[in-house]
Amino acid sequence: MDYINQAEQVIMKTYNRFPVVFKKGKGVYLYDTDGKKYLDFAAGIAVFALGYGNEGYNQALKNQIDKIIHTSNLYYNIPAIEAATKIVNASGMDKVFFTNSGTEAIEGALKVARKYAYLKQEREDYEFIAMYHSFHGRSQGALSVTGNEKYQKGFVPEGCRAVFARFNDLEDVKSKLNEKTCGIICEVVQGEGGIYPAEKEFLTGLRKLCDEKDIVLIFDEVQCGMGRCGSLFAHDLYGVKPDVLALAKALGCGVPVGAFVTSEKTSQTLVPGDHGTTYGGNPLACAAVSKVFDLYEELNLVEHVREIGAYLKEQLENLVNEYTCMKERRGIGLMQGLEFTGPVSPVINKALEKGLVIISAGTNIIRFVPPLVIEKEHVDEMISILKTAVEEAFV
Ligand SMILES: *Cc1c(COP(=O)(O)O)cnc(C)c1O
Repeated sequence: MDYINQAEQVIMKTYNRFPVVFKKGKGVYLYDTDGKKYLDFAAGIAVFALGYGNEGYNQALKNQIDKIIHTSNLYYNIPAIEAATKIVNASGMDKVFFTNSGTEAIEGALKVARKYAYLKQEREDYEFIAMYHSFHGRSQGALSVTGNEKYQKGFVPEGCRAVFARFNDLEDVKSKLNEKTCGIICEVVQGEGGIYPAEKEFLTGLRKLCDEKDIVLIFDEVQCGMGRCGSLFAHDLYGVKPDVLALAKALGCGVPVGAFVTSEKTSQTLVPGDHGTTYGGNPLACAAVSKVFDLYEELNLVEHVREIGAYLKEQLENLVNEYTCMKERRGIGLMQGLEFTGPVSPVINKALEKGLVIISAGTNIIRFVPPLVIEKEHVDEMISILKTAVEEAFV
């Protein structure tokens, strides 16, 4: 409790945190300062895909620390070259810009789209079409395309916001296109907004619109990418390629790193002087990214997600059939959501008490984004704790 009191003295209160101090992790379990054990179905918000304490991963970071941690982008460094090569090969895209977070990956992607339009016609009043219930990050640019009034209010003036359309409603997007539109941005599976997967016709339609108008299509795969949906990138499941792809969260599996990745169409858009970062692509972060790609392959992780994801989906469907307080299951792979008829926070708090870490996505939805290395027995354990938590929370 001392830690928590101290934290409230010195750490800015922008979160209502759960009263837990996590001290260490092993596999898919977390341990707090009292030594209490928790099954982790949140993975630090869809980050720690490999589980905690993966030896190969930890060793790769230790090795890099002993060589060099930072050099700046004025010079080349080996881990960045290796990591970018792996991203390019895996995605079939063309060039990578490393950032320190998801929000920065979005900032970069937005700049690419603006500049792409600007090179055709020099005007400053370009706008984006973004989706309602989207989430793209907390910086001003990323917030401007985040379709949630609660996050924007007081921070992004009306005139600086994107034009919003309904997700999975192509006609609505079409009706909002005009000569000022420079790009369309969407998540392939909406995360914070409540776990809503895109429909195939929607993404195909967006691709066609962006080709016709010669504007930039941005896919935000910060949360749904990196294997979570059972393919390395979620858009591969749909056979639709973006012009810019934003990555972060599991990209470095815990080391703060993101990236925006451009296709041939957009990879010459930003030129020296157009964009930069001091830390982005630093050797330590990129050693993590590089090792993450190796381990995904070694562990056959994407295939594993498909198998365990199907099992998790089935178990959640069973719950929906069993409990009237549950409305619907949604999601793909190991990115699943369970919509309740009312607020889920009592269930989440009860689960935590019982040693299960789960998070919400909106008021009524529990989000399941576990480490990708979970096994069936962990799904069973989660379901069993969840059932007790639901029963106790709603008595
Ligand atoms: C988490 C998230 C972001 C923001 O990433 P940060 O690293 O928190 O800046 C952007 N887009 C999506 C879809 C996310 O889930």
